[in-house]
Amino acid sequence: MLYPDQFGRDPLFPKHSDFAVVFKDELAGRGVIAYRAFAKGDVIARMAGHVVSEIRQHTLQLTPDTHLFDPYFSGFFLHSCSPNISLNMVELTVTALQDIPANSFLYMDYAETEDVLFKQFPCSCGAPNCRSWITGRKEIHNAAMAQPEMLNLNQAMR
Ligand SMILES: [Zn+2]
Repeated sequence: MLYPDQFGRDPLFPKHSDFAVVFKDELAGRGVIAYRAFAKGDVIARMAGHVVSEIRQHTLQLTPDTHLFDPYFSGFFLHSCSPNISLNMVELTVTALQDIPANSFLYMDYAETEDVLFKQFPCSCGAPNCRSWITGRKEIHNAAMAQPEMLNLNQAMR
C-alpha cells in the first residue's frame, strides 16, 4: 500500500504493484503513474490523507473549508483539461474516465475538485479543449495572459 498503516487497510487503497509517484519532467514535477491498465468506469483506488483547513500544494478540496492533504498518492495527480480520472471527494474514490493503458500517468482536472487553486498555472496538456490557464472553479482568471474566451467557467466544469 502507498498509504502508511495509520490509515487502515482498505483493499481499495493503491498498491505499490499498481501505482507509483514518479518524477515526470521539469515542468510537471512528480505525478502518479499506473503500472496496470484500467477500463473506463473502473473505480481504480480509494484516497486517504490528513484533513487540513488550508489549501496547500498537494491538497484536494473536501468541502469549502476542509482539504485532504495526501502526500502519498492523490496529492500528486497531474492536471489535464482532458483528464483520464475523476475524483469523488465524498467517497474518496478515483474513477477511470477513459480506458487507461498500463504505464500511463493519471490526470485529473483540478477544476473538478478545487474552488481555488494553491497557485494558478499555464497549461500545455495538448488537449483540443485545453484552457491554457488553469484556475479553481470559482476563481476569475487573474493572469494578464488569460484570454477573454477562456472566461467561460462552464467549460471548466465539464
Ligand atoms: Zn490543458
